Amino acid sequence: MITKAGVSDNKINWSIIQQHQKRRVADSDHSKTTERKQLLELLRMLLTENESELLAALHKDLGKSAEEAYASELAVLLQEIDFMKRHLNNWQQPKKKHQIKLGSMSKTTVEHHPYGSILVISPWNYPLQLALMPVIGALAVGNSCFIKPSEFAPETAKLLAKLIETYFSPDVLVVVNGDSSVATELLELPWDFIFFTGSKKVGTIVHRAAANKQIPVVLELGGKNPCIVDETNLTKAVVQRIIWGKFLNAGQSCIAPDTIYVHQTIYLQFLQMAVEQIKLFYGLHPLEKATIGRMPYEKQYEKIVDFLKQGSIYYGGNVDAEQKRIEPTILIDITARSPILYEEIFGPILPVIPYTNLSKLVNELKRLDDPLVTYVFSKNKKNGEYIKDKLRSGAFSLNQVILHAISSDSSFGGVGASGFGRYHGSASLDVFSYERTVYTNLLPFNIQKQYPPYQSNDLNLLRKWRRWLF
Ligand code: NAD
Repeated sequence: MITKAGVSDNKINWSIIQQHQKRRVADSDHSKTTERKQLLELLRMLLTENESELLAALHKDLGKSAEEAYASELAVLLQEIDFMKRHLNNWQQPKKKHQIKLGSMSKTTVEHHPYGSILVISPWNYPLQLALMPVIGALAVGNSCFIKPSEFAPETAKLLAKLIETYFSPDVLVVVNGDSSVATELLELPWDFIFFTGSKKVGTIVHRAAANKQIPVVLELGGKNPCIVDETNLTKAVVQRIIWGKFLNAGQSCIAPDTIYVHQTIYLQFLQMAVEQIKLFYGLHPLEKATIGRMPYEKQYEKIVDFLKQGSIYYGGNVDAEQKRIEPTILIDITARSPILYEEIFGPILPVIPYTNLSKLVNELKRLDDPLVTYVFSKNKKNGEYIKDKLRSGAFSLNQVILHAISSDSSFGGVGASGFGRYHGSASLDVFSYERTVYTNLLPFNIQKQYPPYQSNDLNLLRKWRRWLF
């Protein structure tokens, strides 16, 4: 609970909020690039010096293997820090424009300014990466951040709070732990920007709260990412990519291929190859392995178990109720109108659905909410282009899964129901700052015709000289 005095379990108080507000004014200073790079370096040290503790917390929360946790959480953060440090100076330079017009001889520069204090609300599935990724961009351009991590990855959240308190001054970066009631109270505070990653349902609440106070917001939401495999490109490598991308983090990735649509002519072959690949990755008894990921809480586990009943299990289907784990499962013959056909799965179940006519399939997919990404596996350029042009999504990835989202060179975000606003790399520098036009007049005298009272011919003169006046 937050009281007027602060968040009790983290001793946050209003004076820290005020400090953040002061920083908003102070840190518009562009000469502070070195200081900001030092903050990024501090974040790098936090990650590298505490790597094993962080990996252990991620394992406790979600059963992630050290390799998977390092690659999908720590490594992407370190890459992003490197990118920011390399590009910050160039990006920070104000863009100059000179205007020599009769009516407005001026010098104009467009500067990037930090918003001020930023609230980051993050989910449980990549609890470290998604709490810190926005922070990297936000600190790089001079903001301060409050992070509210998910209560459903408590070990990571607690460790993050402890480490950030050790490494950072609270006027720069603070972690506030708590459940949805804490998040609700945080939304009452006067933030300058809110960055939310999570479900569509909570995203809508956050959007509404931000709108009430005219606070700019980014919503990184979920979706049902289709993965279409046409008849031209079924190889071992393709199946390996799809199975890896789907079952990474026990299927709990916002950009996981949600459902596979396979051309009828290769349907059975795909299923057999997918089963072989699952065995190769996870063995014959995946639940005996400690590194098979788990669902974070009972309701989520039950929701995924319920999906298992909405079709025929082709492979897998065993569950471990005590540990809230489900083995990688392939589901076929999905019952018509089942929720698994339109709800985001977010678990280790892979529905495989055959199709015969591509344009009919595309028309059916158009009826679903816009996802974060559309995946296509094809050697037929026309098919790829057709799907890319007909379906809306935050990203389009041809012949690969997941990797489009881990590069700082490309922006990440959704469209429509999967959210709005983009970040990663230079998109983060843009999104966490606002452009401010700085105009300096260079004309020492006034053109009298600009000012009232106007004469009868002035409108004609304005029309005639418009191009040279403005
Ligand atoms: P969630 O929306 O339940 O929770 C996200 C955060 O919001 C948590 O910190 C939670 O405490 C907080 N919250 C809960 N109630 C709130 C309220 N009333 N007001 C303000 N904040 C509140 O999401 P989740 O279950 O943690 O995450 C899963 C969802 O996130 C999936 O839909 C997934 O696709 C999506 N996701 C999206 C991305 C992306 O980058 N687009 C990444 C990861 C996950």
